[in-house]
Amino acid sequence: MYRNRTCGELRLAHVGQSVTLAGWVQKARRMGGMTFVDLRDRYGITQLVFNAEHVSGELAEQAQELGREYVIQVTGQVSERSNKNPNLATGDIEIEVQEMRLLNVSETPPFTIEDDTDGGDDLRMKFRYLDLRRSAVRANLELRHKFALETRRYLDGQGFLEVETPVLIKSTPEGARDFVVPSRMNAGQFYALPQSPQTFKQLLMVSGFDRYFQIVKCFRDEDLRADRQPEFTQIDCEMSFVEQEDVLTLFEGMTQHLFKTLKGIDIPLPLPRMSYADAMRLYGSDKPDTRFGMTFVEVKDLLQGHGFSVFDSAEYIGGICAKGAASYTRKQLDALTDFVKRPQIGASGLVYARVEADGTVKSSVDKFYSQDTLKALAEAMQAKPGDLILIMSGSDADKTRKQLSELRLEMGSQLGLRQSNVYSCLWVVDFPLLEWDEETQRFYAMHHPFTSPKPEDIALLDTDPARVRANAYDMVINGVEVGGGSIRIHDSSLQARMFEVLGFTAEKAQQQFGFLLNAFKYGAPPHGGIAYGLDRFVSLFAELDSIRDCIAFPKNNAGRDVMIDAPSIIDQEQLDELHLSLRPLSK
Ligand code: ASP
Repeated sequence: MYRNRTCGELRLAHVGQSVTLAGWVQKARRMGGMTFVDLRDRYGITQLVFNAEHVSGELAEQAQELGREYVIQVTGQVSERSNKNPNLATGDIEIEVQEMRLLNVSETPPFTIEDDTDGGDDLRMKFRYLDLRRSAVRANLELRHKFALETRRYLDGQGFLEVETPVLIKSTPEGARDFVVPSRMNAGQFYALPQSPQTFKQLLMVSGFDRYFQIVKCFRDEDLRADRQPEFTQIDCEMSFVEQEDVLTLFEGMTQHLFKTLKGIDIPLPLPRMSYADAMRLYGSDKPDTRFGMTFVEVKDLLQGHGFSVFDSAEYIGGICAKGAASYTRKQLDALTDFVKRPQIGASGLVYARVEADGTVKSSVDKFYSQDTLKALAEAMQAKPGDLILIMSGSDADKTRKQLSELRLEMGSQLGLRQSNVYSCLWVVDFPLLEWDEETQRFYAMHHPFTSPKPEDIALLDTDPARVRANAYDMVINGVEVGGGSIRIHDSSLQARMFEVLGFTAEKAQQQFGFLLNAFKYGAPPHGGIAYGLDRFVSLFAELDSIRDCIAFPKNNAGRDVMIDAPSIIDQEQLDELHLSLRPLSK
């Protein structure tokens, strides 16, 4: 028996008991004849005392030689600490050690394994197995485990079956880039790793499974950001005989369940719903952060035609009102201007107006506007004394709204309106079905090619495809798209028509998605579904900025696992077996 207690469970009530613990030495300190050791395991930290007056000389000496991360087993008496540590769950007690067994030694770790570590990101990732000993990181993975468990509990309760779908599938270069795997047994041919189990879950509906889900790895070969990994986990779901409303109701129920069981937060239902058009008009984003207002107000009518050429030539002029920010200094305003001019945002400038205590409005473009016009502006923006109005303009309305959206988020952060422990959930609905791409001069599916147009918009497919709205929806929490889905096309002729609009020839559609088109010939039920990004959802619950810290072994920004050093080159023999030859790398 290595232990009968863990390092996280002993309290005053256990005083006097003899216990055996096993774990890692987080820290050892010597004070006079005493050695104090912080012993750590998954469950917590317990203080051990080796008192030279009570233990053998040999044991006292052994204790003095303990290094960081040594693995030991100790037996001793639980006793009350005179010097209690309120920051530690076990801080009222300590173990007076009577026996110790050294189970393993350790080299000095490359960084301190404590909540406040001195290890930088790269080092921690290289030694991720040590990083994972830190309780802060482990807590995220514990939360992830519970999240998956509660998801399964809820979906099982709703009659969903978890079905595994294959990982080696067919490449369908629609959407993101595929990761591909060469086939040894089929020379010159490749599998692809699934970007999502989309077509399989639809086939399961054709098979009559009615309610499917799967917590599943998906793979997309995209450029990486803080909230993106090349492999990520989805809660993938599909249901038959449902309309959009059925899907939204069931899955807001899941969201409510997760918030309640994991965070103790009551989320009132139904969740607010916002059309894509409103989200873009009021927030300049299809994933609005609704923890705060500061919605856009269009002021083109008010501000055009007063001789300010920047505004006079603009297609869009819009502003936000930052409550209480009239006290912003010149320096802070200049910094905001620099912020919107950064290449990632690309705006040409920023106009501001402050509402003074007496109601007069002072702006950066005073010489073009009368006080009456500026007061009308303040009124349109619902700006009160003490508020700051920020205005942006541009020749492309969508682009300008996106820029204003970045400014809005920045102001939200600066004014403390985006606290990570406050949650605001909503559905964004009525997405456009298609997106025009200037570069390739064709339409792309905004969601994916299986998304159903709204029945009342189908006729527009022939006349004005850009105006067709889809039965598609995203769940957005705090400006993060945590999930998205749609009602699917279940009619093979409408699906064929959709491929046509997307520029597929009948042959190409057959070649890539023939299996689905064929399946739809055998009585496909009306169906729809959704997929949640588990990593993102958990990182919101864990109040993390990056999804990395809720993934046990994440990849870095270059898509590398620096711990196992992947990707890596393979032997000539392996290449030969796979019928592959490599071109010399171009510089
Ligand atoms: N497969 C879709 C995605 O990964 C989600 C869905 O439509 O269910 O975004």
